[in-house]
Amino acid sequence: MNQKLLSAVLVLLGCIFLSSESLKYSDMNKTSSDIILTILYDNYTYNQELESDWGFACLIEGLEKTILFDTGTNGKTLLSNMEKMEKDPADVDIVVFSHIHQDHTGGMKMFLERNNKVKVYLPVSFPADFKKMIKDKGAEITEVSGPVEIIESVRTTGEMGVEIIEQSLIIDTEKGSIVITGCAHPGIADIVRKSAELSSGELLIAMGGFHLVRTGENEINEIIKIFKDLGIKYAAPTHCSGDKTLEIFRDSYGDHFVDLGVGRVLTLSEL
Ligand SMILES: [Zn+2]
Ligand SMILES: [Zn+2]
Repeated sequence: MNQKLLSAVLVLLGCIFLSSESLKYSDMNKTSSDIILTILYDNYTYNQELESDWGFACLIEGLEKTILFDTGTNGKTLLSNMEKMEKDPADVDIVVFSHIHQDHTGGMKMFLERNNKVKVYLPVSFPADFKKMIKDKGAEITEVSGPVEIIESVRTTGEMGVEIIEQSLIIDTEKGSIVITGCAHPGIADIVRKSAELSSGELLIAMGGFHLVRTGENEINEIIKIFKDLGIKYAAPTHCSGDKTLEIFRDSYGDHFVDLGVGRVLTLSEL
């Protein structure tokens, strides 16, 4: 091989090497998928096209499985909101229930008529007739007592509370953990404390129902202090949190307050 040909071959090989490197890099960008949280059921409204109603449901996409957290009060409203958001019930792999109240479980019966191939994670203390309804429709149940890993990087707090038993969801991300609550009956402060213990890093956001409708301003401020001491970067109270709570959190968190409400699509990349 003469000198000229050799250098031409080397340049060519270099080009191939470089382009394969840049290919790898762009592939890496594509596959590091974003987490998408869509509020499908909420008494607060974000997108006017959707129907708001008392209750809560949140769809979690972008992980190895698609998770529906709670199902709202009314199955018809849930399914119609899903349709408007172009979310197919058949794409849901896992349903997680926070607690037994109708405004979180009421939509399940109709949902199962559209997709009974889901794995359902519910507190072991749920009534037998609700568990039976799910099994009769053909879905598989996992009963939760202590903290459980659902899929990689997603776990529940396990059952918390005394009177109304509830679990919350924790999603670990490279930016910190996302905590999603249904109604937070066991107390939002205890839930975020436990989530901080269970999660691998810092807490990025606490979102969902905080159950502070009848809570006084001083107590709400104390809860915000607990949030900030734990380093929770964003707050997104909705559903049963109360207007006053939203107002106080908004004042305190400023541009790190996240508006939810039905139809809101929150992505990890915007946090
Ligand atoms: Zn409740
Ligand atoms: Zn509720």
